[in-house]
Amino acid sequence: LTISAPSIKLAAEPCSLESLTARVAAVTDFLGRAPIAFVDMDGVVYEWGAQLNRVLKSIDPDFPIVPDHLRNHFGHLAAPGAEQRVVDWALMHPDLYTDGEATSGSEAALEVMRAIGLDVFLCTTPAWKNPFGYSGKVRFAADNFGEWTGTRTIFTHDKTLVFGDVIVDDKPRITGLVTPHWDHIVFDRSYNQDYDTGYRIFDWFGLDWAETIVSVLEERVDR
Ligand SMILES: [Mg+2]
Repeated sequence: LTISAPSIKLAAEPCSLESLTARVAAVTDFLGRAPIAFVDMDGVVYEWGAQLNRVLKSIDPDFPIVPDHLRNHFGHLAAPGAEQRVVDWALMHPDLYTDGEATSGSEAALEVMRAIGLDVFLCTTPAWKNPFGYSGKVRFAADNFGEWTGTRTIFTHDKTLVFGDVIVDDKPRITGLVTPHWDHIVFDRSYNQDYDTGYRIFDWFGLDWAETIVSVLEERVDR
């Protein structure tokens, strides 16, 4: 039997915008501020892997790419027989960050996150050696998700140092200098199937992802 704040969970219909908003408001009351949600970019709201393959093919039409949904680990960028220098070149390519696509449903999902009362930030590790690593991401986010991202994008190479409540990220094991304040919700990809934080978002369609985020926030309150 749950004893802390059960009335809110039971009173609300699951997965309506109204109920999600009420549940986030209850967490906000508890925290004394809106819950802070970080959303990673590459592999979460930006189809980085698909764009990498496009860039690789533009450099060498015969390049042995790995289809994005078949990558079996985080650094699985090319199939056997690939020339590493082509991969290196692609990783430096300006189009890697300027011509890609948003993950299906992510634009609407970010709007919903904001609408239900979360303090939303993109939190991303840019490829600092690529001249478009930072600027391309700022431009992509503003063009696809809105101008609010201009002041709500955190660039860091150590996400553990950033204070927040949840992070949606495709990377297995986010490591850094400290034990993070946030909980990691894994964004489902072929290369993170063996990694489990207990929380996983499978896609940005519907409101299942929102139910997951809000449930994690409530669990944190109950801890
Ligand atoms: Mg990522």
